[in-house]
Amino acid sequence: MSSAVPYRVGFGEDAHRLEAGLPLVLGGVPVPGAELGAVAHSDGDAVLHAVADALLSGLALGDIGQYFPDTAAEWKGLDSRLIVQRALELVRGRGYAPVNVALVVTLDRPKLGPLRAEIAASVAQLLDLPGSEVGVSFKTSEGLAPAHVQTRVTVLLGRTEK
Ligand SMILES: [Zn+2]
Repeated sequence: MSSAVPYRVGFGEDAHRLEAGLPLVLGGVPVPGAELGAVAHSDGDAVLHAVADALLSGLALGDIGQYFPDTAAEWKGLDSRLIVQRALELVRGRGYAPVNVALVVTLDRPKLGPLRAEIAASVAQLLDLPGSEVGVSFKTSEGLAPAHVQTRVTVLLGRTEK
């Protein structure tokens, strides 16, 4: 049972190894010009996996591995938007909704700056938020992890039922 505090903060993190010949999708947006893509059971969207975990963690609902085990054949190649939708349903079922999101993507190449607005809009649409409520930051690993993508996400959840 969730407490009835007006706000709760959630945090999520996700990472995938990258290999040549695979697609790279971040926040539901295919990254053009990516020479490396995510090795994953699902579509490997590190942004959406971290968003879903942030949603769940804000209400202490566990993590996406419990709802979408990576051993389940039915989730192979899964569109990660479905994972976020499921997490959002659980959050709404507890009487909360996202207020704003801050996310950080660490990737060496390609540069993601040109995709900032598109990724923000895509995540915002999934969470039924204005694009202005999704902050997107990009970092590189400075060459420490060139075949690696990592995402960290915080989300503020606000109580919708008084
Ligand atoms: Zn993932």
